[in-house]
Amino acid sequence: MKCRVCKCHVVIELRQHNSAFCAEHFLAFCRRQVERAVDKFDMFRPDDKILVAVSGGKDSLALWDMLVELGYDADGLVIGLGIGEYSEASTEFARTFARDRGLTLHEYSLDAEHGFTVPSAAQATKRVPCSSCGLSKRHIFDSVATSGGYDVIVTGHNLDDEAAVLFGNVSRWQREYLARQSPVLPAANGFPRKAKPLVRLGEREMAAYCVLSNIEYVVEECPMAAGNKHLEYKGLLNDMEVASPGAKHAFYFGFLDRAADLFASAQDETSGSAEDVLSPCSVCGSPSSNDICSFCKLVSLAAVPVEVEITARPDMIDK
Ligand code: SF4
Ligand SMILES: [Zn+2]
Ligand SMILES: [Zn+2]
Repeated sequence: MKCRVCKCHVVIELRQHNSAFCAEHFLAFCRRQVERAVDKFDMFRPDDKILVAVSGGKDSLALWDMLVELGYDADGLVIGLGIGEYSEASTEFARTFARDRGLTLHEYSLDAEHGFTVPSAAQATKRVPCSSCGLSKRHIFDSVATSGGYDVIVTGHNLDDEAAVLFGNVSRWQREYLARQSPVLPAANGFPRKAKPLVRLGEREMAAYCVLSNIEYVVEECPMAAGNKHLEYKGLLNDMEVASPGAKHAFYFGFLDRAADLFASAQDETSGSAEDVLSPCSVCGSPSSNDICSFCKLVSLAAVPVEVEITARPDMIDK
């Protein structure tokens, strides 16, 4: 088999695209997929200031690399979640990536800034770790993006992630989640725009992109992800993909093309305007529908010293 573009030695075959590429043209293919997603969903413009939500894993580092290669002005933000060695290793990979390329990486520590970690918050709230983790990450990314003058926050959710989330939402017909499942969420109510430029690329492509670009990343899954429902859904979708290459793409983009608007408009009719009335949180000033925002409530609950072990088994995930 030969590269589709230059006919030289192939490093990867993409059955879903009926294509194979050499290293150079595979990297170019990945960047082109990002450009196509950015254009189709009007995610951001060439002169926008971008904040990349960096986890230290393959997706967020590959995304950051591609955005810089494509000429965008993109800084990173990594949050120290306090999940033992996993968090330490993740942060170190993000630092090394940024340092080697001369990029700006903001760092934020939950423990240093607020006196809790994801495991301790899970114990304090008696909820799955991903719940307080997701809430904390959303709040901090929003705050840093707003105070830093960024136009958009981008995350490394890829096609496998989005198809798995869609599968979970469809299997329970969770209409309010289906109404919001979009690769781009516009700025609203004081919250910055959010976008997922990797929706046209899967896990396998992202791992290959990192290997071929010499990007080192944390390979281990977060220990809190054990038992995660979305990992099971990914397994099911991978089986479908083997039997029918392109099945994930057809499932996810078929939803966006043919069904997403129906759920979004039905949601608007039942919940009224998307412009909810929010006012500043009395503690941190972030937009909130209550006097004190959910994150500040979490801080008041979780910022107490507790002994924890990293053994929780959540049933939801959020990057
Ligand atoms: S699996 Fe993801 S969302 Fe859950 S605790 Fe780990 S990093 Fe946070
Ligand atoms: Zn080639
Ligand atoms: Zn607050």
